[in-house]
Amino acid sequence: MTVLADFIAALDRGTLKVVDLTQPLGPDTPVIGLPPMFAPSPGVSMEVISRYDDKGPAWYWNTITMGEHTGTHFDAPVHWVSGKDLPNNRCDTIPPRRFIGPACVIDVTAEVARDEDFLLMPEHVTAWEKQHGRIPPNAWVLLRTGWSKRTNRERFLNVTPEGPHSPGFHRSTSELLAKDRDILGVGVETVGTDAGQAGRFDPPFPNHATMHGNGKFGLASLCNLDQLPATGAVVIAAPLKIVDGSGSPLRVLAIAPA
Ligand code: MN
Repeated sequence: MTVLADFIAALDRGTLKVVDLTQPLGPDTPVIGLPPMFAPSPGVSMEVISRYDDKGPAWYWNTITMGEHTGTHFDAPVHWVSGKDLPNNRCDTIPPRRFIGPACVIDVTAEVARDEDFLLMPEHVTAWEKQHGRIPPNAWVLLRTGWSKRTNRERFLNVTPEGPHSPGFHRSTSELLAKDRDILGVGVETVGTDAGQAGRFDPPFPNHATMHGNGKFGLASLCNLDQLPATGAVVIAAPLKIVDGSGSPLRVLAIAPA
């Protein structure tokens, strides 16, 4: 298997690079807000168990508490009611082969700069494909919006009296990607894989409903998508093997030509 030896040699030579698509995870990590009738997800809290002290003189470790869907995280199909009865739909039962796939990066940074509520339409996908080729089966489709540059929590969540404003996918685009292109899932720079206003859409949160109803995954709060080519990178996104888990924080890595 020279391909693996070649792979390591290319990393060592620097002809391939590892791009970290993960945001830092800590008490400052922004968490999605829901209307008050729904249960909120807690943010990150950390408590020291011991730190080279009486409770553990030679070791340091913490207890961490958070919702499964916190920071850079993975959405499993069971996360949504539309995917609740699918086979292999949980963090502990998804076949690991499905955590690795080619990345198709769709750059809509300019459109989002003009319109915070921008929705990716099927014609944006077909225009991208005219330039870069058809999205292959089992690809990660990453929506590059520039949103991760919003390092200020308020600007990132962008909540107004009528709710949050952030970009996402039109339902018809999610259907095209999930059914027709048969992707692994979508990844976004925003706090969730639906647009900020998607709670008001019909159906509500159509990207979640469509992706997870078709056994596809989601990746939220990604960063550094501007370091990836439109095609040619590989993304590895493996959630924690939480028993019956609906999702988990994870380290998302891309291997890309340097
Ligand atoms: Mn989620």
